[in-house]
Amino acid sequence: MAELKHTRQRAAILQVLSEGEGPRSAEEVFSALHDEFPNLALSTVYRNLERFSQEGLVRKESFNDGVIRYTATQEHGHYLICTVCDKKIRLEHCPLSDMEKELARDTGFEIDSHSLTLYGKCPACLAHEKDPRKP
Ligand SMILES: [Zn+2]
Ligand SMILES: [Zn+2]
Repeated sequence: MAELKHTRQRAAILQVLSEGEGPRSAEEVFSALHDEFPNLALSTVYRNLERFSQEGLVRKESFNDGVIRYTATQEHGHYLICTVCDKKIRLEHCPLSDMEKELARDTGFEIDSHSLTLYGKCPACLAHEKDPRKP
């Protein structure tokens, strides 16, 4: 029975990461699953995420804030991140894939992966900055 529970938790953690809302920290995964698995411990989430990362199921990303976040690996993606409210927007296309091919050809490198994240302020935060009385 413990094994089944374990398998369901693993599946649920992966599910949260592949829902496409961008990279999630262990804490975010933990709170997303808290209703469904009230007995799930944060340490268990951490342990599973580390194992997934070793198994190549998820990729670890570390942004400017120093928090480690995890993305399901089939979700290759790039993000625009608002440095004020932490809103994340996923780019529709990978702007680097052509460049990667070209670079591989020019340099002889076999390129396995890349990362690209853009930081700035979202329109809502910019508007708030101009007029702080608005929420
Ligand atoms: Zn913002
Ligand atoms: Zn890319």
